[in-house]
Amino acid sequence: MTVRDEATADRRFATNSYLVEDEDTHDAVIIDSNLEPDLVISMARLRRANVKAILLTHTDLDHIAGLHELRDALGAIPIAVHESESDVVARGKPLRREFAPIATQLENVVTLNDGETFRAGSLEFEVLHTPGHSPGGVTLRIDGYLFTGDALFAGSIGRSDFSNSDGTALVEGIRSKLLSLPDDMIVYSGHGPATTIGREKRMNPFLT
Ligand SMILES: [Zn+2]
Repeated sequence: MTVRDEATADRRFATNSYLVEDEDTHDAVIIDSNLEPDLVISMARLRRANVKAILLTHTDLDHIAGLHELRDALGAIPIAVHESESDVVARGKPLRREFAPIATQLENVVTLNDGETFRAGSLEFEVLHTPGHSPGGVTLRIDGYLFTGDALFAGSIGRSDFSNSDGTALVEGIRSKLLSLPDDMIVYSGHGPATTIGREKRMNPFLT
């Protein structure tokens, strides 16, 4: 099996939305739903991908803003999110005390649990709970690829200045669960360019 990844970023927050596709079966998922969902929808259509699920690394607005449009375009496929943030998507509960609630109440929300495998068609993701930026932050691993959301970026790490953030847990989770992986693992973040575990181990000023 080979996995093909393509990213789109919206113009406002430059939040990445990834289409991950098994080139053999064309089964696919979308990871995170940025402010311009039409970009990833047209990418999926162009590639004739069978999008089986939407996976969320966490539920800050810029990662879930396009969910309704994705659902309209792709049907009521499951939306997978860590259980501690599922109410944000299913019930419109605010993730942050600092921001107003958003009117997101979606059906067919399923949970991602630490250490478990999430299957979507022929794709299998290992779920690594990497909280700290938000309580339910997860990193999703498939083959040699990691989707780290707003936990780990190229040369940086996620914000931890919100009331429900935890900077110590963030660094601890990155160190124990991500930096312990092979150096050649490719890291796709919620914002900015791709990197590798080896590069972040050597160069990331928040982790060295
Ligand atoms: Zn973000």
